[in-house]
Amino acid sequence: MDEKKVLLEKAKEAMGNAYAPYSNYHVGACVALTDGTYIPGANIENAAYGSCMCGERNAVYGAYSRGYRKEQIQALAIVSDGKKLVTPCGACRQVLAELLNPDTPIYLESLEEGMDTTIRELLPFAFDTESLEKE
Ligand SMILES: [Zn+2]
Repeated sequence: MDEKKVLLEKAKEAMGNAYAPYSNYHVGACVALTDGTYIPGANIENAAYGSCMCGERNAVYGAYSRGYRKEQIQALAIVSDGKKLVTPCGACRQVLAELLNPDTPIYLESLEEGMDTTIRELLPFAFDTESLEKE
């Protein structure tokens, strides 16, 4: 199986751990790292909706929490059990723009659609660390 298929399968496994009693919309994600490690993530909801966290952010935060940085992230896969293509929400795009390299492959797959993209494509003209520079 090629790398992309392996990563998508791991994201689907992670989707099985989603906690989504309110939306019933399940998301799984997985980060592939240069040392061969995979870090999964799933969406986790809460009765206080603002406390919910998306699957892809859980995966990327998990990688960073273990000491990895964008240079070690080879690819990110995000899957959902919806019909329409899953794409990262606006907040996740902002996070991914800072925590991934602009051209790191992002594989998206829902029940009926799939797409390969990058955060450069998903969030052009991102506000980032360079935006804070004044000189
Ligand atoms: Zn999100």
